[in-house]
Amino acid sequence: MTKKKKAYIIVKKQSKEKVMDRIYLDHAATTPLDREVLEKMTPYLTEYFGNADSPHAVGRRAMNAVDAARDRLAARLNAKPNEIYFTSGGTEADNWALRGGAYAQRERGRTHVLVSAVEHHAVLAAAEALRAEGFSVDYLPVNEGGRVALNTLKAALRSDTGVVAVMLANNETGTVQEVKELCRIAHDNGSLFFADGVQAAPHIPLDVKALEVDMLSISAHKFYGPKGCGALYVKGGVRVKGLLVGGEQERGLRGGTTNVPAVVGMAAAYEKNLREMATANEKISCLRKLFLDELATLDGVEVVGEEGVSAIVNLRLHGVSNVDFVYNMDLLGTSVAAGSACASASIKPSHVLLAMGLSDGAAKECVRFSLGKENTEEELLRAAAQTKSLIKKLRG
Ligand code: PLP
Repeated sequence: MTKKKKAYIIVKKQSKEKVMDRIYLDHAATTPLDREVLEKMTPYLTEYFGNADSPHAVGRRAMNAVDAARDRLAARLNAKPNEIYFTSGGTEADNWALRGGAYAQRERGRTHVLVSAVEHHAVLAAAEALRAEGFSVDYLPVNEGGRVALNTLKAALRSDTGVVAVMLANNETGTVQEVKELCRIAHDNGSLFFADGVQAAPHIPLDVKALEVDMLSISAHKFYGPKGCGALYVKGGVRVKGLLVGGEQERGLRGGTTNVPAVVGMAAAYEKNLREMATANEKISCLRKLFLDELATLDGVEVVGEEGVSAIVNLRLHGVSNVDFVYNMDLLGTSVAAGSACASASIKPSHVLLAMGLSDGAAKECVRFSLGKENTEEELLRAAAQTKSLIKKLRG
């Protein structure tokens, strides 16, 4: 073996070890693919590679797997298989729900859209795209804890409100909204209700009938499934326009060759995550408490937002820039976030925190720690010790 090749292998090995050694506290950004899930996916990447729409045996084999994945996912969500549409992830599902729902509602003369001010960018940007097309868009404010009050929705609804979007769990604070109650209010007004369930899916058993929502989005990579795969639930009888044309897939509403291994992986990951949820949630709650107890002796550290999903802990570190903190934690070997992953390249303060009443300066002192099922006590103790010493250093 050449010297160069040997050196390359060593560097590769080191960088692999480094990732394994790191403390990963950014599960709201993404989770690792579960190995059992990978095993279920592998045959559909290799021997059963067929295009699910091909009418021959190779295609039918793939389609059987897609059908089985749809049936299983639907059963776990308490939906019917034909109410589940596969997408390329949460962003597509969110875009589809809001825009596809709004286009269908426009045909009933309803061109007003209401979205909460703390939605993910996928929903906010979709709302702005609708505005540019002539829809009227309003944002539902939240209280200090990050919740949309029921009266706020009542007051904001108009006779021409077509779609209301309020997410289940927030990706920056973990705060959970009163979706069922909000949904009932929207329905009394004849409006559709969409809930982004992307951050709730890993931690809350979702039951679309109990929630009473018309549409709900999920994304596989948030619950140890593959990236680039999600689903939109659309209640039977609810009309949404498709956004992607070019194929008859997903009952003609979402063109594009079905990502067979990914949907197989998503269904398997959702089922496994659901099976392990109670145990994982209990463990994560204990780890959260341990972490916060360790930091309790520090002045100027406070939890931001009402607790909902325990896995997400948003902390305001007074006098500390979140960008500096995240950078320095990374150097120490711990991955945390200064906001949502999609906005982390921006130094703008988080729109979620501003909507909750924080000033620009305060929002730039907030850091998100998001825990996962494989984190350990030792890791959280180490992360707390790093946090303490970094706060001291950065307040300097
Ligand atoms: N909605 C929420 C609440 C999210 O947290 C995310 C991802 O962070 C998305 C939507 C987008 O999902 P995806 O990464 O699958 O496009």
